[in-house]
Amino acid sequence: MKYIIITGGVMSGLGKGITSASIGRILKNRGYFVTAVKIDPYLNIDAGTMNPAQHGEVFVLSDGAEVDLDLGNYERFLEINLNARHNITTGKVYRNVIERERRGDFLGSTVQIIPHITDEIKASIRVAALEEVNHGQQADICLVEVGGTVGDIESMPFLEAVRQMRGELPRHDLALVHVTLVPVDTMGDLKTKPTQHSVKALRELGLAPDIIVARSDQVIGLHTKKKISAFCDVPQQAVISATTVPDIYQVPMEMEKEGLADVLSEYLALDRRVPETDWYRVVMNEYTSRITVAIVSKYGIEDVYISIKEALKHAGRALGTEVQIRWLDAESYDTHQLGDVDGILVPGGFGNRGVEGKVAAIEYARVNKVPYLGLCFGFQLAVVEFARHVLGWTDATSQELGEGKQVIAILPEQYEVSDLGGTMRLGNYPVTLVPGTLAYSLYREETIVERHRHRYEVNPQFIRDLEQAGMIFSGNNGNRMECCELADHPFFFATQFHPEFRSRPAHPAPPFLGFVRTCRDQRTRAPR
Ligand code: GLN
Repeated sequence: MKYIIITGGVMSGLGKGITSASIGRILKNRGYFVTAVKIDPYLNIDAGTMNPAQHGEVFVLSDGAEVDLDLGNYERFLEINLNARHNITTGKVYRNVIERERRGDFLGSTVQIIPHITDEIKASIRVAALEEVNHGQQADICLVEVGGTVGDIESMPFLEAVRQMRGELPRHDLALVHVTLVPVDTMGDLKTKPTQHSVKALRELGLAPDIIVARSDQVIGLHTKKKISAFCDVPQQAVISATTVPDIYQVPMEMEKEGLADVLSEYLALDRRVPETDWYRVVMNEYTSRITVAIVSKYGIEDVYISIKEALKHAGRALGTEVQIRWLDAESYDTHQLGDVDGILVPGGFGNRGVEGKVAAIEYARVNKVPYLGLCFGFQLAVVEFARHVLGWTDATSQELGEGKQVIAILPEQYEVSDLGGTMRLGNYPVTLVPGTLAYSLYREETIVERHRHRYEVNPQFIRDLEQAGMIFSGNNGNRMECCELADHPFFFATQFHPEFRSRPAHPAPPFLGFVRTCRDQRTRAPR
């Protein structure tokens, strides 16, 4: 097992996750099997209880783990399925060590950050690296992305663990990639000082980078590379210029051009292989048409809905259709803003804020025959909208939202739940699709497996009434309704599950593919 450790300097938000995923991709294109671990130095056990407006989307893995959105990037770039062990947090590390201390595992000794916490970190990395993530296959190379910025108090024990790993492993089994920022000053000059300082901070912790990935708005030329090379003590060809590109799937291509694969191959003593380039052809397929999709949601922050954004792109690339997203704030938009869109999407969500705006958007889509895709909360609210306006149950609502006719009710297994962390209906569950429905025509399978994250469901008491009024529940897990659709509509489809988490650049999620295709076809047929 070879390890590539990725650290970040200067500031957060430099695209370390995309850099890591892209490094993995260029190695995967050379036939290596790559896995990935994300270290999040916060004290939370997982991302499940964190506000997505601050930390971005909570990504859900097949085993139900609620994790950092970077794991979504790894899954998409590397075409693997990760699990809870691939997201290591300070919370998990300390919990394990403290539990062992209580059991008496360290009887007699003083439990300390070094060696007890650092040993636990190293063990967790090793265990995660050896997990099978692709049909029983074990990886050749494991990426380990250390979240945060070098110098943060929180990440110190993790960097110390990396320092120990470097000493313990053969020289060719570990490479350290440091991602930094090279800003441009008011004169238009590239400034290397922040990079120098962050490398200095790394050195103080006993670590020296092998490769520097320099993020910048401008291409970093030879002159600047020489300077970084001299001050930071890495060979010039190991200074990689990483400018911002329009599509994240271009990043591995840019890294190829910079020769990163050769440098890595040398450090890790990998044989030089000719890369496979098929993937790029698929994921960068040219656009011949364009649609606009409105996403009506509580947060207008793209990072919160990154998997949905990517899933729309995957479907769009496959169809040669560029999907432009119009982000509409559910609390303040006007339905006029839906007048010229080709499709409407209501994503997952929690709580009352913006609910009426979401319901109004769903009503607009249903009545005006605009293609609609509802995901999780967007499914539940489609049922609420239908109950209110088709069945005439004006007080229809979800139990999550308050008093009224609760057509959406709490899952029975949630009655006793009091802890909020990791207790929703999470991860993979099978869904049976009804032949002859839109759902079935999208998936072409009777049983599918999709990822979930919810506490509420369609109230079994009202299923018959809803069905009799024309709502088609086209997928279920026993008595639990998993998707719904409407006849006499070009595309009105909503799912209790989250198909966006399983969408891959070369394998778009079927609901997204069907949605984008209908948006495009409707547009060319009858411009509204
Ligand atoms: N709030 C809803 C529930 O808990 C929907 C959750 C979601 O959209 N992820 O069931």
